[in-house]
Amino acid sequence: MSEQRSVLAEIQDTSVAEDEAVSLTSELIRIDSTNTGDPATVVGERAAAEYVAEKLAEVGYETTYVESGAKGRGNVVARLAGADPSRGALLVHGHLDVVPADASEWSVHPFSGAVQDGYVWGRGAVDMKDMLGMTLATARRFKRDGVVPPRDIIFAFVADEEAGGEYGAQWLVDNRPELFEGATEAISEVGGFSITVKDGVRAYLIETAEKGIAWMRLRVRGRAGHGSMVHEDNAVTRLTQAVARLGAHRFPLVLTDSVREFLAAVTELTGMEFDPEDLDGSVAKLGAVARMVGATLRDTANPTMLTAGYKANVIPSVAEAVVDCRVLPGRQEAFERELDELLGPDVEREWIANLPAVETTFDGHLVDMMTAAVTAEDPGAATLPYMLSGGTDAKSFHTLGIRCFGFAPLRLPADLDFSALFHGVDERVPVDALRFGTRVLDRFLRSS
Ligand SMILES: [Zn+2]
Repeated sequence: MSEQRSVLAEIQDTSVAEDEAVSLTSELIRIDSTNTGDPATVVGERAAAEYVAEKLAEVGYETTYVESGAKGRGNVVARLAGADPSRGALLVHGHLDVVPADASEWSVHPFSGAVQDGYVWGRGAVDMKDMLGMTLATARRFKRDGVVPPRDIIFAFVADEEAGGEYGAQWLVDNRPELFEGATEAISEVGGFSITVKDGVRAYLIETAEKGIAWMRLRVRGRAGHGSMVHEDNAVTRLTQAVARLGAHRFPLVLTDSVREFLAAVTELTGMEFDPEDLDGSVAKLGAVARMVGATLRDTANPTMLTAGYKANVIPSVAEAVVDCRVLPGRQEAFERELDELLGPDVEREWIANLPAVETTFDGHLVDMMTAAVTAEDPGAATLPYMLSGGTDAKSFHTLGIRCFGFAPLRLPADLDFSALFHGVDERVPVDALRFGTRVLDRFLRSS
């Protein structure tokens, strides 16, 4: 009994870790780790990794620093031994890189890490140096206080998520899988944040699924010729017709388990009905998250790049386009069939990236502990599963047989357009949300 009480007292006193989460997030933002997508111009991942390693070593962690396939692509992994080595380890992973930011568009410098007006400002504030800060602060606290979690926790801070993980998570999975040995479940970004579903009632969205990312190159070959002549076999004309068909096409509405559960839970919380005859229309009423949820109702194929020709009066023999396709779990084959019908036989297609969708179920001990940790800090709140329309490093870690969740807890103000902050101008995270998230993470990691 008295032991129980002392554990509770410990949990309640997270103020040092909360302060640290704020300062660590701010300091991490000040390390410019811009991932341009071009390995030649990526900066700062090594500095960020070294910073993280130093903060972990300072409190007694043994850390492993790994460069993934190229100079400067830094990753750091550390393990905290748990009470029961027979249980699978929990992986807590986060990426060190951020997308570029143009300082001239921002109200504060994107790499200032300014703490003002109740927010920590800068590139990475929500994607995802906030979670790195909260994770580091909690890891440091556990080590300082001698906390032994129920099972091993593996902390991994990785490079290159913003360009697909070839020099980060995917490289580590392919080349250093032993670093993740025994891991059965994982948490990371784009989940755990709150939405306000009706006055004062919050729901925390836990990512249980991700659409697949399939970037496709289309190519049409025709006959080259003089631009002044009558010409029946113009590659540009035929390619653009196919691209236009694709861009205007609506793929069928498919209600996956994650989305079905999400909508049912919102109905239960709010009484809001989702008319199956007009799901798009009723999802639109969800407010700020409508964009996110709407994109998980069907596959999408958005043309993004066109290349053809080299002179105004020369009809080129080849024309190419790139299309960003996002595919629901279980839909890849049907999606490809539909693509081929739309494109017709003359258009060649190839995948330049094809990362399959991932999906897990919203149940089990880990999910119960997420819910318990959230509701202990926000009584009356609910947790809901949801599908991310984008992709994360979960795509790589999932291939090691790890169940992946998005759980980076943040309690957000009702009027904050959170999804717009990702890769957005004036990206920022509320200081209160970081403090809240640190408390939730502390409870969760002690109990999971
Ligand atoms: Zn991210």
